[in-house]
Amino acid sequence: MSKNDQEEWGLATRAIRTGQVRTAEGEQSEPIFPTSSYVFGSAAEAAARFSGEKPGNIYSRFTNPTVRTFEQRLASLEGGDRCVATGSGMSAILATCAALLKSGDHIVASNGIFGTTTVLFNNYLGKFGIETTAVSLTDLAAWESALRPETRMLFVETPSNPLLEVVDIRALAELAHTNDCLLVVDNTLCTAALQQPLALGADISVLSATKFIDGQGRCVGGAVVGNEELVGKEIYGFLRTAGPSLSPFNAWVFLKGLETLSLRMKGHSDNALELARWLEQQPLVERVNYPGLSSHPQHTLASEQQNGFGGLLSFEVKGKREQAWALIDATRLISITANLGDTKSTITHPATTTHGRLTPEQRAEAGITDNLVRVAVGLEDVEDLKQDLLRGLHAIQ
Ligand SMILES: *Cc1c(COP(=O)(O)O)cnc(C)c1O
Repeated sequence: MSKNDQEEWGLATRAIRTGQVRTAEGEQSEPIFPTSSYVFGSAAEAAARFSGEKPGNIYSRFTNPTVRTFEQRLASLEGGDRCVATGSGMSAILATCAALLKSGDHIVASNGIFGTTTVLFNNYLGKFGIETTAVSLTDLAAWESALRPETRMLFVETPSNPLLEVVDIRALAELAHTNDCLLVVDNTLCTAALQQPLALGADISVLSATKFIDGQGRCVGGAVVGNEELVGKEIYGFLRTAGPSLSPFNAWVFLKGLETLSLRMKGHSDNALELARWLEQQPLVERVNYPGLSSHPQHTLASEQQNGFGGLLSFEVKGKREQAWALIDATRLISITANLGDTKSTITHPATTTHGRLTPEQRAEAGITDNLVRVAVGLEDVEDLKQDLLRGLHAIQ
């Protein structure tokens, strides 16, 4: 089949087929190459590969066939020229910032981003003279007024976690580009199956593959997708030098995850919507955050920008931390863990786990209240999930 055929394939087909190079063994499933280095035919060939004169494998910190298949497949799904896979979602974000920013540069980020990303920006990038200003995700005027002459990057997560706020990526890309900035979107929660930030104008899509790409809670990994210059040259250069590389085994698990990504994202979205509607009816629930609900402030935007509303929802119970903890502790089916994107549903208390390292002020600014509970809705029968949460709600009565 020619390359042109591949470009015309739909998303589900590319998620299953793109990037596979069958070896002489004729295997149907992609092989894993657990090798740190590669053997050259001659000294001259080794020299040609090291100098970049000839393409080919050199060393698995930056060239591995299993990792490459994953990168090519994900690049195709996200609609970018190049993908660089990394050992975690956090190292994907670190690689992006380290490769594209320098001391004195400034980042504007939404205050609803992943807690660890906030810590990375403030405590570590800050040490190297890169300052970050946090703004309200949905307030475009706040983004604009936070810009400084030295602002180089806008960083956003949409929908946000755990509040599920949604921002207009197209509008933010326009703001970034008229001010000589890059727009980086953390696409972990939607993945390419539900949202394509690059097609909406973003320069970079970063993902934690640990979540929905794996989809079954097994491996930690990440990826950066974008154009040849930013990702193929700059970020790949950082990966080759600094080495936050993805292991071939984890790349293989993610390849298998991609094969069912579209189906799973639809299943997660269907279950989450039904559960969100049901939670809205419960008297002990004060508020439900889910972009698929017509009560959600950015429901219309989410309907246009996304192909589905995803597997994450959060809700506030009547009461405080004590009631939120009692609800969580009374569940028996749903796992108490901070991971998300798993076939197994998970439940967590953001204020004391994922967002526990933020200061109380940062938490208040981000809207993470003590009575907030987050559920990453899995693929179990939705009736069983309702029964489990009902057990939790009875516990706080
Ligand atoms: C989990 C997560 C990350 C970090 O990914 P790791 O693979 O855990 O390092 C970054 N962004 C978002 C939105 C996440 O959910």
